[in-house]
Amino acid sequence: MSGLFGGESPLEQRYDYLVVGAGFAGSVIAERLASQHGARVLVIDRRNHVGGNAYDEPNEAGILYHKYGPHIFHTNSDQVVDYLSQFTEWRPYEHRVRAIVRDKMVPIPINRTTLNELFDLDLKTDEEAADYLASRAEPVDEIKTSEDVVINAVGQELYELFFRGYTRKQWGLDPSELDKQVTSRIPTRTNTDDRYFGDTFQAMPLEGYTKMFERMLDNPLIDVRTGVDFAELKDRAFEIADHLIYTGPIDEYFDFRFGKLPYRSLKFDHQTLEQEQFQPVAVVNYPDEQVPYTRISEYKHLTGQEAPVTTITYEYPSAEGDPYYPIPRPENQELFKRYEALADSTDGVTFVGRLATYRYYNMDQIVGQALATFRRMDERHTSQSEP
Ligand code: FAD
Repeated sequence: MSGLFGGESPLEQRYDYLVVGAGFAGSVIAERLASQHGARVLVIDRRNHVGGNAYDEPNEAGILYHKYGPHIFHTNSDQVVDYLSQFTEWRPYEHRVRAIVRDKMVPIPINRTTLNELFDLDLKTDEEAADYLASRAEPVDEIKTSEDVVINAVGQELYELFFRGYTRKQWGLDPSELDKQVTSRIPTRTNTDDRYFGDTFQAMPLEGYTKMFERMLDNPLIDVRTGVDFAELKDRAFEIADHLIYTGPIDEYFDFRFGKLPYRSLKFDHQTLEQEQFQPVAVVNYPDEQVPYTRISEYKHLTGQEAPVTTITYEYPSAEGDPYYPIPRPENQELFKRYEALADSTDGVTFVGRLATYRYYNMDQIVGQALATFRRMDERHTSQSEP
């Protein structure tokens, strides 16, 4: 797969759909349109690979790693699992995370074990742990910010140990400046369950995400061109295809005419170490503000791969770089709404995916969103085909 204009050109024919972005949103819709409507689809992505942020690849040492940070699949939707299971088998995996706090490695979300280990306690029952947390809570009269939410629930000390530094690093903002919605619910537990997610389905694609995407897009009606930016062919989009599915940043589509939608980015430092294992679980968080990274991930826990070496990734939050996390402030949502109104009045283009809707979504939510978008297109398609 190479640039659109070099060598063999796919443009000798017209397509029914041009899909911008080969992440979950673009790939799911392309697959549905081709397999269910017999539509001819051209998928482009400006990166040199498919899979979007979920892309994984073996590195030089042969370790399967996630180029854009660890992606753990979890969902409560049977529909999403049934759909994706057409393209992959699964490896059962339950995610566990630890945090380094006061030189101890403790479970997060905070549970009974966390409290016992950190404060040298011997809480034996859920009730004892609940009473202990209640005794730490410092009721806040009017909850306005993220800081208020956490202090109200668990008190100042746990707030500072687990939330304050992590949030300041992650967002570049103090929790007192972040809307209360960001931490609307503090997931503390009084039992000893140390699983990170509570979803009914928690598993990793057996051979990785990229293999799953390749199978999804492996249809004679779908052409995929990577290394192609939509900007190169925006002027000719409707000569290439009748309809456009756009999964890129919504502000970029409209040439940033109202200004840029703010995102927080990340820098990933991938390292391969000459040792079998680096840490006991896939992800270890570092809430201490003095540590420049937020977390370290080790992929072999996710993939089950066996090898004498291991690959880990340090994540450094950053103001510059690829758009990863929409910054949750009311004025940014207002800006997005202005772009959304433009999108709603733009004929021939369907906006879908996390960048086009300016919201953090998990992978399963994006698959669900893409399937729902396809269903709406399907209804129109069926009503148009009826005599
Ligand atoms: P993307 O995957 O971003 O795909 C959009 C694609 O469009 C990109 O490949 C981009 O290159 C392409 N594109 C954009 N503009 C253009 C253009 N102008 N021309 C051509 N191509 C363009 N979710 C989970 O469920 N579990 C996790 O553990 C998890 N971990 C995450 C960790 C991190 C660090 C981040 C940032 C996200 C994580 N997510 C996780 C969320 C997950 O990445 C998203 O839900 C998913 O990637 C969204 O798919 P998408 O297709 O909407 O967007």
